[in-house]
Amino acid sequence: MKLLVTGGAGYIGSITTAELIHAGHEVVVLDNLYQGHRGAVHPRATFVEGDLADRSCLAQLFADQPDIGGIMHFASYTLVGESMAQPLKYLRDNLVNAANLLEAATAAGVRRFILSSTANLFDDPERMPIDEDERIVPGSPYGESKFFIERLLHWFERIHGWRFACLRYFNACGDLPDIGEDHDPETHLIPLVLQVALGQREAIAVFGDDYPTRDGTCVRDYVHVVDLAGAHILALEALDRLGSRRYNLGNGQGYTVMEVIQACRRVTGRPIPHVVAPRRAGDPATLIASSDAIRRELGWQPRFPDLDAIVASAWEWHREHPRGYAGG
Ligand code: UDP
Repeated sequence: MKLLVTGGAGYIGSITTAELIHAGHEVVVLDNLYQGHRGAVHPRATFVEGDLADRSCLAQLFADQPDIGGIMHFASYTLVGESMAQPLKYLRDNLVNAANLLEAATAAGVRRFILSSTANLFDDPERMPIDEDERIVPGSPYGESKFFIERLLHWFERIHGWRFACLRYFNACGDLPDIGEDHDPETHLIPLVLQVALGQREAIAVFGDDYPTRDGTCVRDYVHVVDLAGAHILALEALDRLGSRRYNLGNGQGYTVMEVIQACRRVTGRPIPHVVAPRRAGDPATLIASSDAIRRELGWQPRFPDLDAIVASAWEWHREHPRGYAGG
């Protein structure tokens, strides 16, 4: 199938684009390169530089590519902390951009849609691990913006007969040898710890050691981007058969921040100093996914269930690309 991948020059979008092409799909990438990198886009993808805020650009794209059969929507502002400081960038821009995309897709007759959603929908979970029946309590304007888009899709299904899947990722991490994580600024734990291993930072700050967890640091469910990409492909291929779906995506195992740092020490063989810093606003103590539904319904099986293997894949990318895409 020919697919439109928005944000296909970003971290998860670029790796999903590569996996789609390996699975035999054709991909058109739309990206404004605000956060993404031209060098991350698979050479066999058609690249369109453009912005979802620009409705004429979207109309032109669908006119130029009349045979697009589905959309994977990654393009988005994604930082929880930033969304607490600049809520409208998320509550307005993420929503308007998605609405523009849905409008143009409807006009073009495209009705299959996979949304990159988030565990930030579950700020106050009643059960752990968190399954799809958990009540939705967005933890930030970022999470709320993704929830809005999930609701848009609900109405497009009812009104226009769309089929959609919302994939709520827990902690995306890991890399391919030639496509990897390169954010500026970097805020995520594993790349920051590996920057310490590379000597680019003096120490990793551990945000809080007084949480009610086994060592006092936050517990998260780390899931490899290749496995997230695989889930997108399975969800796409099942849309016509199963109808619209919402899935939580993680390995079902929680690791503390200190356990992640230990894994990075084991994999890199480097000491990696850490310092304890104050809690980061908005961090829940524990987030672990139940991915039983997608395993059962789509046969999803992570290729990287093991934290050390995830870290090793990230270490390979960061060691070989210490300046990210800027280093060529
Ligand atoms: N974290 C940390 N130091 C850092 C960055 C992150 O201690 O420099 C912690 C953060 O508080 C959270 C976990 O690492 O408990 C994962 O954070 P990340 O930003 O990677 O992902 P998030 O959980 O926010 O999606």
